[in-house]
Amino acid sequence: MKVLVVGGGGREHALCWAIAASPLLTRLWCAPGNAGIAEVAECVPIGAEDIAALVAFAREQAVDLVVCGPEAPLTLGLADACAAAGLRCFGPSQAAARLEGSKAFTREVAEAAGAPGARWKRFEEPAAAKAYIREQGAPIVVKADGLAAGKGVVVAATVAEAEAAVADIMESRVHGAAGATVLVEECLVGEEVSFFALCDGATALPLGTAQDHKRVGDGDTGPNTGGMGAYSPPPVFTEAQQRQTMERIVRPVLAEMARRGAPFRGVLFAGLMITADGPRLIEFNVRFGDPECQALMVRLRSDLLPALLAACDGELAAFDLRWEALHSLVVVMAAQGYPGAYAKGSEIRGLERAAQVPGVQVFHAGTTRREDGALVASGGRVLGIAAAAPTLAEARAAAYAAVDAIDWPGGFCRRDIGWRAL
Ligand code: ATP
Repeated sequence: MKVLVVGGGGREHALCWAIAASPLLTRLWCAPGNAGIAEVAECVPIGAEDIAALVAFAREQAVDLVVCGPEAPLTLGLADACAAAGLRCFGPSQAAARLEGSKAFTREVAEAAGAPGARWKRFEEPAAAKAYIREQGAPIVVKADGLAAGKGVVVAATVAEAEAAVADIMESRVHGAAGATVLVEECLVGEEVSFFALCDGATALPLGTAQDHKRVGDGDTGPNTGGMGAYSPPPVFTEAQQRQTMERIVRPVLAEMARRGAPFRGVLFAGLMITADGPRLIEFNVRFGDPECQALMVRLRSDLLPALLAACDGELAAFDLRWEALHSLVVVMAAQGYPGAYAKGSEIRGLERAAQVPGVQVFHAGTTRREDGALVASGGRVLGIAAAAPTLAEARAAAYAAVDAIDWPGGFCRRDIGWRAL
């Protein structure tokens, strides 16, 4: 079986690593990949958003399965273009990817499905949004409808702050067209959990849960990032809550999407708030989280490849996924300065020593290899140090032992990943 993975971050390295272990695999490519991915797959210099070139390559090589890591190619129609070319693609159609691309669409679908979420209203006029905010009071949440790179949501502690958010998003258009519509939502209180389900359009299987750390600094302080670490499973999320999430949120939403003629195939990532009355939906993403994907892959016992194929072929009903009875934890190492301006090209040494720590896998998120063979940083988030062990405390100790074996003066990481759970 020939597989092409699309993307070049830590998530895609973890996916390539898991797929490479499959006895079904004959050849694995990754576009564009990175220096770590190059150790398990053949990297192809095609950008993840160059849909035409990806499809042309997959046809030329008679690829059996295209696996999409990030959301952008999906919102650009990668799965549709693959289908039109007779190629199998793991990931939702453009129509189904709207679950990530539009927050209003997500709320509408969830509401029609009866899934518990937040009270919400959408506005096209700033004055009406502000009036509603004054009527509801604070705390209250203001969101740009479209994608805004994680910066389109303001959890406002006061009415003034919420009104200012409306002005920024709708009047100053700080997120451009994404702010033509805003949502004003009830502020949910609780712990946040990421829930992943594997979907084939009609059937969903739980793929695991994780918690991540979005802030750059220890103690969850400082600016937001793409994610500085994650662990799985989160102890706050009980088996009963998992079942509730499948029964009340994931399955009804899947049925509603099918009813609308946009069946969802791929990974449905539900961002949940664990409130006093159970899990409630914050948002959907239409792909794995990163670094959460790394934390899940090191716990997966089943062969990933047949599971992805079953999701594409509508055969998940007869499928069973197995997990190791292990806890996992990922520490992200980023370039100094991230998430602000950072330098590229600093040299990284000691990864072989890090990989020797029992239970550790080093995933690359932003690395390249210089002509002289040296490994250098080429992104903001650069490495994911993932560890699996019988307890979360042991996983954390192993991950940090590996971090300490790495010689990279140009990088940094948080020292407290998992603190809430430990
Ligand atoms: P963007 O579209 O800008 O990339 P995003 O996808 O990160 O944003 P969300 O995940 O919907 O946006 O929201 C970001 C964060 O805001 C959530 O992780 C959560 O902490 C907080 N949040 C969102 N909605 C609510 C809510 N209704 N109540 C409380 N907190 C919320």
